[in-house]
Amino acid sequence: MKYDLLLQGGKIVDKGFIDDRGMDIGVKGGVIAEVRPDLNPLEAHQVVDVSGFIVAPGLIDFHAHAFLEARELGLETDSTCLSTGVTTLVDGGSSGAATFEGFKEFLIDRAETRILAFLHISSIGLADLLTGESTYLPLLNPQRTAEMAGKYPGLILGIKVRQQKETVGNNGIEPLRLAKQAASLAGGLPTMVHVTNPPVPLSQILDLLEPGDIVTHFLHGRGMGILNGDKRISASAREARQRGIIFDVGHGRNHLNFPVARRVLDEGFLPDTISTDLTRGGKAGVARNLLHCLSKFLSLGMDLPSVLACATTNPARIMKMEGVIGTLKEGACADISVLSLESGEFVFEDCDGNTIRGQRRLMPQYTIRRGRLIWQHK
Ligand SMILES: [Zn+2]
Repeated sequence: MKYDLLLQGGKIVDKGFIDDRGMDIGVKGGVIAEVRPDLNPLEAHQVVDVSGFIVAPGLIDFHAHAFLEARELGLETDSTCLSTGVTTLVDGGSSGAATFEGFKEFLIDRAETRILAFLHISSIGLADLLTGESTYLPLLNPQRTAEMAGKYPGLILGIKVRQQKETVGNNGIEPLRLAKQAASLAGGLPTMVHVTNPPVPLSQILDLLEPGDIVTHFLHGRGMGILNGDKRISASAREARQRGIIFDVGHGRNHLNFPVARRVLDEGFLPDTISTDLTRGGKAGVARNLLHCLSKFLSLGMDLPSVLACATTNPARIMKMEGVIGTLKEGACADISVLSLESGEFVFEDCDGNTIRGQRRLMPQYTIRRGRLIWQHK
């Protein structure tokens, strides 16, 4: 057979564009073999009619947690991700140099979902959320962190640090400095910095960042943020974006505030990536899953291709995996999400009790991982 799997007649959304024509995708050997109208179904082992549905690259959740407190999501990673169109999860620093290899052996290596990771500058990662992981500086060893990152190139994408008052104690911005040192020692990896309720103004954090570094939780509503006293986007944030700093949503339990998001989006400052910062708590709470988070940004006024680009094209580029994931081009890994765009009256909630109404939401239909139909809506 020419194809293992043929997806027939879907509306392809890729690279920030939608193609309404109804296209076929032929998959062979785990790779996207052909994308064009009218592929021959007789040449396919399995045929799935996806007409009327959106066909997107397998979604990338650029910031979630498979190993928070050494368990969150954990064994639920596959069921959570694959049932919501997510084929790649980037763990946002659940593990550090002392715990990464356990995370790898017991979870990453056994998951069907592709899991990549940012390594926390604190050696314990986020093993104990009750104690700020960066309150005790001896845990933050740039050399040791860089060595672990260097041991797993391509799997460890960068260094994570949380610059939140509660997680750094009296250490101010020193954890970020140490994270940047580790990133540099590891050969210039990006640093992802959590900025909710920071001990210093966001501008001081941005001053330490270099092109390719990532600000996560940029739409939080807790403490000093991206808006200045006039509720306008600060000049330092605009300048940071100009320099190539990446802005990630990281919804989570505490990090999305609709009034902030509205103001920021109204000024045309769109997220680079929309991610869940998912944990079991977030899953049971208002973040719920990646499609739910993406639907919130549709309701905030972003168009569908731009929203999907924040979970496909954009994270793939940031991860330097363009052409491999986050795309439906021929030769790419056959990770594919088939989605429906439902119409109705939907209410969405942020982390601070605010709600918005929306008329559209994305729902999962089929998930294909490495060319295999691995989940379908019943
Ligand atoms: Zn996180």
